[in-house]
Amino acid sequence: MRIPRLAHAFSTAPFLLGAFTPLRAQSAAPGAPLAQIHVATGDARSYFTNAWWIESAEGLVLIDALCLRSDVDRLIASLRATGKPLAAVIITHPHADHFGGLHQLKAAFPRTPIVATRPTADAMQGVHDQALQPGGWLAALGADYERRLPRPDSLVPTGSTLRLAGLTVTLRDYGPAEAENNTVVHVRELDALFTGDLTVAGGAYYVGEQHSRLAMVALSQLLVDYPGPVTAYSGHFAPMPLGTVVHENLEQLRFFRLAAAAEFADSASVAPSGSLTPAAMRRLTRTYAGFLRDRNTYGMGPVGLAQMNASGIVAEMRSAAPVRVPPIHQQVRAGLRPLRFLLGRWMGTQFPADTSRSTVLPSLELASEFVPVLGGAAYEGRMTAPGYRFVLTLSYDAAQQRYRVGALDDVSGLLDVFEGALGSGGALMVDNVRAGTYYVNPDGGRVHSRLTFTPTAGELFRLDVHESLDGGRTWTPATRYEATRRLVP
Ligand SMILES: [Zn+2]
Repeated sequence: MRIPRLAHAFSTAPFLLGAFTPLRAQSAAPGAPLAQIHVATGDARSYFTNAWWIESAEGLVLIDALCLRSDVDRLIASLRATGKPLAAVIITHPHADHFGGLHQLKAAFPRTPIVATRPTADAMQGVHDQALQPGGWLAALGADYERRLPRPDSLVPTGSTLRLAGLTVTLRDYGPAEAENNTVVHVRELDALFTGDLTVAGGAYYVGEQHSRLAMVALSQLLVDYPGPVTAYSGHFAPMPLGTVVHENLEQLRFFRLAAAAEFADSASVAPSGSLTPAAMRRLTRTYAGFLRDRNTYGMGPVGLAQMNASGIVAEMRSAAPVRVPPIHQQVRAGLRPLRFLLGRWMGTQFPADTSRSTVLPSLELASEFVPVLGGAAYEGRMTAPGYRFVLTLSYDAAQQRYRVGALDDVSGLLDVFEGALGSGGALMVDNVRAGTYYVNPDGGRVHSRLTFTPTAGELFRLDVHESLDGGRTWTPATRYEATRRLVP
């Protein structure tokens, strides 16, 4: 017979559109105590921070402390409504949206230990004081932020396993990543990993503290340490399988670092100070904002979030050891500079160019993403339509001063090679006549193709495909792809 799950307990004080609704009940292994995971979520002023709390038969464990006084009051009411003892408050990382409620919690539950590792405990006060300076984000919260901050009174070494409310709870540090230190909290009986802000589920990854490289290392290590079916309960937004959220976060960080590296690799983008020029900063911000358009940006919007993160990543990558770039690389990157309009994520439609033709292609919805690869030495585009994918590699041959585009699709498997030059208005026009990578149509004719990538005003680009049956002497339109980079969903 199956072990029955605990009935859903409904919030005694619902507010903020159900922000305190318990998310799920999880039954544990047979013989182990049942426990239920609840969440209390702060509002936009504290970036929708989660405080997760676990309710077992014996008591409660709270992970993170929220921030705003009014949110913490409601959290305390929910904890008290269970009638069970609060065994511990565990702080995952030194950010005030996660620890700001500690004074209220300590006042409400004076016997409950506040647990943290030393690197987190040591960094909290400094973060708190800095954000309370005039202009700091905590200062802007006014009376809804409690200015007193107790220090965690139960410091545990990384790797410690605690027995709390009948549950087996392990804390493990991953060092600097999203914050100065990031602790994850594993609850063995639930296969649950409370990751704080080391992972962010569906939101933009904050790199303002200049640790994007270490964050990638830490995220990779997290998968090594927790290879099984573990659910990640992030410090913001919904629970997600750990592997899913880690891969998504790595993809974000990889994209952003590559986009920044492409700017740093181009001497025209680097100011005498070693930072990026204002134009390069704007380009990086816009590219990254396009990437973020389907992610939560904590009420800041993709552009606001991108500006904040761009400052962090530029400061981080600027302080990295300078790399000596050979002159040929400078020429390659200068050659690629006019193609930067392609970088980012796009949604678009592929239209048949001429609907009177006998072989009318249907309109296809195409998603595409263009990223710098090999440290900015080339760009790669991945385009996906239902049942059809292809990869483009865009390169600049500095010796022959021409552009070369490789296209490989998953239907023909043919590596098509195009060559060409920049035309008027910054359009790139390449064809496969010289390489001779035509395809053969059902009539036996040799069909060459020509691609034209055109930047258009207002965050658009267009890709026109022409075909030739006479070796490139005359061209007729075949299809066109129009893509939009939408900054606001
Ligand atoms: Zn946070």
